[in-house]
Amino acid sequence: MSPANPGNSGNPGSPVSPLDPGEDDQSLGGVHIKYLHHCPRQLWLYMRGYRPEARSDLVAFGEVVDDTTFTRRRDVDLGEAKIDWVTAGAVVHETKSSRAPSAAHEAQVRHYCLLLERRGINVRGGVVHYPLIRRTTDVPWDDEARDLAETAEADAQAVIAAPTPPDRLTRGKCRGCSYLDYCWGE
Ligand code: SF4
Repeated sequence: MSPANPGNSGNPGSPVSPLDPGEDDQSLGGVHIKYLHHCPRQLWLYMRGYRPEARSDLVAFGEVVDDTTFTRRRDVDLGEAKIDWVTAGAVVHETKSSRAPSAAHEAQVRHYCLLLERRGINVRGGVVHYPLIRRTTDVPWDDEARDLAETAEADAQAVIAAPTPPDRLTRGKCRGCSYLDYCWGE
């Protein structure tokens, strides 16, 4: 296995634009929370304009699954976040092309619940849909979930504000990450 926390170095051939991350720190969307849970370094790089996922085959595949699975839904655009759809209640729904349910997906849904609640909506909870494995994961919305969502939001803002990128994860945990080229020079 590759060494843990090998430092902040990245591939010098992959420039990161000097965007001011502070411009956006009041408007975190679901992707920020998902990246925080996956890898804080990914969030930090994303906020500075490094976005290889835009050309990632995996992401493109996910968009196809997303576009074809639920044809009668309505997106809910909050500006900072676009929720897949919300049903009466209100229940937040998120569709993932992944075959592996993850805590990051649940955190993303909790963040949407938090954003809706701040707009005065009485949120009931959420559901993550995994059509490729025909599974769903219920995401409760209660005091504990709200605490988790607020903590994640604060953690994300702290990562974004940091002057240097968080360390890389161990090499094994980077498998499949669209930032692999930047972090590991492959
Ligand atoms: S390649 Fe690894 S260290 Fe780099 S952003 Fe992805 S998970 Fe994080």
